[in-house]
Formats: sequence, structure tokens, C-alpha cells
Amino acid sequence: MTTITHVALLFLAVAVLLAWWVWNQREQDVDDGEDAAANDARITPLLRGINYLLSDQADLALQEMVQVARLRSDAIDVYMALGEMFRSSGEIGRAVRIHQNLLARPDISSDGRLQAHFALGRDFHTGGLLDRALRQYDHALGIQSDHLPSLEASLRIREQSREWLPAEELLCRIERIRGEESHFHRASLYAEEARRCWRDDHHPEEAEDFANRAIGLDAACAAAYLVQLDLLIAQTAPWQAIEDRFTLLWQQCRHHAAQAIPSWIGHDAYREASTTLLLRCWHDGHDEQLMLLWLEQLYAAGCGSRVKEIVMESEFVPVSLRGEMRLLALREEGDADSQRLAERARVWRKQVKDYRCHECGVEVREMRWQCPQCHQWGSIRAQEGGGL
Ligand SMILES: [Zn+2]
Repeated sequence: MTTITHVALLFLAVAVLLAWWVWNQREQDVDDGEDAAANDARITPLLRGINYLLSDQADLALQEMVQVARLRSDAIDVYMALGEMFRSSGEIGRAVRIHQNLLARPDISSDGRLQAHFALGRDFHTGGLLDRALRQYDHALGIQSDHLPSLEASLRIREQSREWLPAEELLCRIERIRGEESHFHRASLYAEEARRCWRDDHHPEEAEDFANRAIGLDAACAAAYLVQLDLLIAQTAPWQAIEDRFTLLWQQCRHHAAQAIPSWIGHDAYREASTTLLLRCWHDGHDEQLMLLWLEQLYAAGCGSRVKEIVMESEFVPVSLRGEMRLLALREEGDADSQRLAERARVWRKQVKDYRCHECGVEVREMRWQCPQCHQWGSIRAQEGGGL
């Protein structure tokens, strides 16, 4: 469906909603014995407004709808529907004006004020003005401290802004209101804070503390083990300490364990020492993703000859077409035909997306701990299966 058709349908839906609303009010007023002339005064601009909406003249439609709303002081629903319509069709400025005008009305009820602050927050949020959106959600929470939509929207902004501790505070409030615990989510926020402490602030002690807290909350938080491994490697810890930590990760969260390999593959001593461990893991689970990522990391580190040796030693044969192609892209020897195929596989390899969210299905090139589409934590995994 084209965007224009989508917007036209949206406009039509709002027009029907408004017609229903005014008709409903009219019926009530007739019951109350109100003068029929007052109803006609409302119906006429409404019909003109619908006509303008259908002929795609949004400015004129808005003027008529405002007229409808003026004729009744309790027409907040009309304004809210209009604001929603403009936001959905990308006209953020208009949506903001409608909601600001609502908030400026002296007769607005407390619930109307709450809804208007939340809607204005969504306008700013959609427009990328995150600070202003947060302020509006805060106003809404000032009116109703357990307003879940405002808390969830604020959490999303803190996560987008990589402010992990304020995000964790919001998540705790949401947990209390819902009466359910989100240990993995909280652990993921601590793991991100641990990574930030290490990479941005260069504070290894704080990073270690947050990584430990993450694993204390949920022992399957792979991202936290990766921070611990980074810290051990930075300290040039003995290989055994790194192997022990990796083994825990392998036991607790097998589908993300391969993500640890890039952290040590650039260190000659660790790279060689890890061979026995990774071969053992391969024999333990025949995890194709672990093997392929390991081989690709070796290839990228300039150890193409080791790739061939490990494939022979492990008797690795991919079970998926995707796996066959990834392995082919690492081949360096062979006749002209083999080389041509390998070259084509390398071109394919640069375009393919390795990871997929098992919640919403979005595909991404790089591993992420939070899905960019559905915002779930830990839902992105390496692509498996027979397809490409
Ligand atoms: Zn997703």
C-alpha cells in the first residue's frame, strides 16, 4: 500500500470517528431537549471538515474541526483524535500545536491534562526531540505516578540515549506496578552499564561490579560475561581464567557464547590456547555458528592456513546452505573454478545479514543485545537453517 493511500485511509478513519462522536453527542442532546439549531451548527463544520479531509486539504480540515471543538467545551476527544491523526501522518508540528492548545485551556480536567501531556510527549518522541518528550512524560507522571504508558515510553528514551541506570530505575517502577519481575531485562541494563564504564570511562572496577550484578540477577546474561572476558583479557590474565569464564558462558547461554571469540582472537597467545577449548565445545554441541564464527575470525586475523587445519581436525561439514557458503568464502586454494566460486561467496558474505530477532524477525548485520525494532533484550541470535 502506498503512503498516500495509507494517509487517506487514516484520514477517513478519523472522519468516521468524528462523525460517530458528533452523532452520539447529538443523540444525547436531543434526549436532553437541546435546541436542534445548536446541533446543526456543529454538524455543518464537521461535514465540511470531512469533505476537506477527503480532498486532502488538511489545513482547511483542521480549521473546521477546531470549529467543531469550539462549539462544545468537552470536545477533548476530537482534539486528541486530530492530534493522533496528524502525528501518524508525520505532521508533528500540527500535532504539537493541537496538544499545546489543549493544555492551555483553563477548563481541562486532570485526566484530559494527563492524556494531553502523554500525547505531546509522543509527538516530541516521534519527532526525535527526546529531552522535550521526557519532560512531557514527567508531567504526565506528576499527575498519575503509575501511568504505565509514560513510564514505558520514558524507559525507551533512556535506552535509546544509552542512559542505563535511569532506565533501570524506570524498569523497577514498572516492575512494581505490574507486579512481575524482569530480571533478564534489568541484568541487560547492568551489562550495558558495565560495558559503558569499561569502554567510555575506563573504570574496570565499576565495570566488574555492574557485570557481577547483572549475572547475579540473571546467570544467562551473556553480555555481562563478555564484559568480564574483556576485563580479564585487558589484565592479560592467565588463559585458564579466561577459559573458566567462557565455560560458564557456554553452559549458561550457549546460543550467544560464540560472541566471545572476537575478544581474544587478536591476541596470539590466547588465540592458540583457545583451540583446544573451542574444539571441545564443537564436539560437545556441534554448534555450526560457533565453528563458523571462529573460522571467520581466524581468517580475518590473517590465519587462513589455520582455518584449513581446524576444518580437517574437527571434521567440520556445514549442515546448512548458508554455512556452506560462509565456509566457501574462506577457501584460498583450488583451481580457477573453485577460486571463482570462493570469490562469489566472499561478495555474498559482505551483503548477508548474520543475525535475526526471534521475536519480530528483523535481520541485522551486527550482533545487538537489544532488538532495534521490537526493543526486546537478548532476542537476536545468529541466523540458522538451510536458507540464505
Ligand atoms: Zn525484534
